[in-house]
Amino acid sequence: MKFSDIPGQEQVKARLRSMVDSDRIPHAFVLEGPAGSGKFALARALAQYIHCTHRTPDGEPCGRCPACVQHQSFSHIDTLYSFPVIKNGRQTAISDDYLTEFKDFLGESPFMDFNLWLGKLGNINAQPHMYVEEGAELLRRLGFMTRSSRYKIVLMWLPERLNEETANKLLKLVEEPTGDTVFIMTSDNPRAILPTIYSRTQRIAVPRYSDADVALYLVGKGISPANAADAARVAQGNMNLALRLATGDEENATFFDLFVRLMRLAYARKVGELREWSVEVAGLGRETEIKFIDYCCRMTRESFITHLHVDTLLSMSDAENAFVQKFFPFINEKNVEDIVALFDRSRRDIIANANAKIVFFDVAVKIIMYIRRK
Ligand SMILES: [Zn+2]
Repeated sequence: MKFSDIPGQEQVKARLRSMVDSDRIPHAFVLEGPAGSGKFALARALAQYIHCTHRTPDGEPCGRCPACVQHQSFSHIDTLYSFPVIKNGRQTAISDDYLTEFKDFLGESPFMDFNLWLGKLGNINAQPHMYVEEGAELLRRLGFMTRSSRYKIVLMWLPERLNEETANKLLKLVEEPTGDTVFIMTSDNPRAILPTIYSRTQRIAVPRYSDADVALYLVGKGISPANAADAARVAQGNMNLALRLATGDEENATFFDLFVRLMRLAYARKVGELREWSVEVAGLGRETEIKFIDYCCRMTRESFITHLHVDTLLSMSDAENAFVQKFFPFINEKNVEDIVALFDRSRRDIIANANAKIVFFDVAVKIIMYIRRK
């Protein structure tokens, strides 16, 4: 991770660089600020910058020396990651038990979307912590570490999730540094960090992103400027939320297009084009296919509700609403149950790993019959 890989936050980057350049690296400090502001990415760039043997004149790690190469594959020999985990039925758990999942997570979510991490842990309702064994393990590993560079670095994500016992184990290390260990912590909620730890750290505030920063980053990810601006406005500087909103919008637009085509082609009995349509849907991948089926159920329901003129229940975008205003006569008492049951059946088939092309073509052919019932 280079500083230039991270959008915005130029003042923080300048401060971090100057700590290293002037050889005044605090032995324990917290990058603190709202979720989705790039704190852990900044911490990773800083760790790589500290270890890099050929820093560039413009204040970046070189990206090519052995230290940089190791950092970029999350395997730097003098760097430890510490992060909250769950026991998952075991006696206890430490970060190392989930290192593979964490490295995947770092690759997929540079802004550290906590919901995604819960997904990686396999329990979206979990309350992950750093348990007491985490403290012992960190001490043990720091003691044994063979050092290839001047500093050993601990990158700790969410110190507010340290158990009290764990924190006590780490106190000595944070308080009486041996001079060769740097603790870099990143916190979304510094007020929840145990005072024993927090009082012994320096703090660097990382502000929320501006809407302009967020929108620019989304456009760079291929999101349309209009959707990017919408998502940025709602996300309030949280890059994770913005990414979820923007990609959700794009997905919604794709689903809308596929749903409209299904209904139009079915009404016109264009079997050949419906076969192409089913091949296209089958290319979405299983998880997205299931979401698409949910979308079809929702649109069918919305159309039926419009048919009944209960329009206060509608929750649709303008484009969806415009379509449904013309389409609703085709969803009625004679077919709505069959259509919803058809989508429900297709969802079960997709979950059971049935051939998606066959499932969606079957849906298309049955819609041809259902849609003409009046
Ligand atoms: Zn380097």
